[in-house]
Amino acid sequence: MAGRAQQTKVPVDVKRARKLISFLLMSFNLNLPPDWKASIFLEVRLRKDLGQHILLSKGVLSRIAEFLCISEGDKVLEIGGGTGNLTRVLLERPLEKIYVLEIDPVMVETLKRIEDERITVIQADATRFDLCSLGDDLKVTGNLPYNVASLIIENLVRYRSCIPLAVLMVQKEVGLKIVGKSQPGWITLFVNTFYDTEYLMSVPSRFFLPRPKVVSGVIRLRRKDKAPDLNLDRFKRFLTRLFSSRKKKIGNLFPKKALLEAGLDPNMRSHQLTQDQVLRLYNVLER
Ligand code: SAH
Repeated sequence: MAGRAQQTKVPVDVKRARKLISFLLMSFNLNLPPDWKASIFLEVRLRKDLGQHILLSKGVLSRIAEFLCISEGDKVLEIGGGTGNLTRVLLERPLEKIYVLEIDPVMVETLKRIEDERITVIQADATRFDLCSLGDDLKVTGNLPYNVASLIIENLVRYRSCIPLAVLMVQKEVGLKIVGKSQPGWITLFVNTFYDTEYLMSVPSRFFLPRPKVVSGVIRLRRKDKAPDLNLDRFKRFLTRLFSSRKKKIGNLFPKKALLEAGLDPNMRSHQLTQDQVLRLYNVLER
């Protein structure tokens, strides 16, 4: 029995030791908080339920800051500041002001230790925070918590009137969906009606601590000059209905009369519709 107990124990310890060594090796190169010794224990403190995967690569952090095209006088909003890895890189740029939203009080304390007059840390839930209360011209960025990334992006669209640009790290799969490079869903149409979207780069999981199970991707949203003025809740309800089934023909989802009026073939399926066709149908249904 004793032998068996030992056998089961050893692999666990080896795994732990390997993890620690690889983390120590990475730490040399990394943009960890100044009290980085404490950060070795960070993984213990990190909360899975809040999607806390710290982006360690200085290279990737700098690319994100670059993609945001920060120039003098810019106001930036970072979502999910965590340990402040990205925040510090952003502060190297000539921005005028940076707001950091973070839900976890422990992380908020860490962020508040960053000494820079330009930073304001706010403990808040980014899925429902009134983003326009921070200004009317905000560049938004963040390594988003993946479990609520779609909800956060939905909230960005809600407050689009004050957000001309966003550069966001999301799960690669979600990123591809949002920019329309994979099977579209309601969120694809929801975002692309108001923003031009692009997929900028993929980021492998080894750049994070702890490693997420999925590959990540950086996307950019640029607000369109001309976007329709419509009721977001009603539009979302329409889109979720439209994308409720891949197999169903749109003729089985909406009245044939409305489809014909919008010039659409009732035999089409949701993913075959262009953005213009979707909007046309929405407008006919809303009339
Ligand atoms: N920016 C950091 C951490 C990213 S992890 C880095 O790149 O290293 C995602 C962060 O979002 C975590 O710190 C987590 O606590 C925070 N978070 C999770 N849910 C949130 C929410 N609803 N609103 C705001 N922040 C949230």
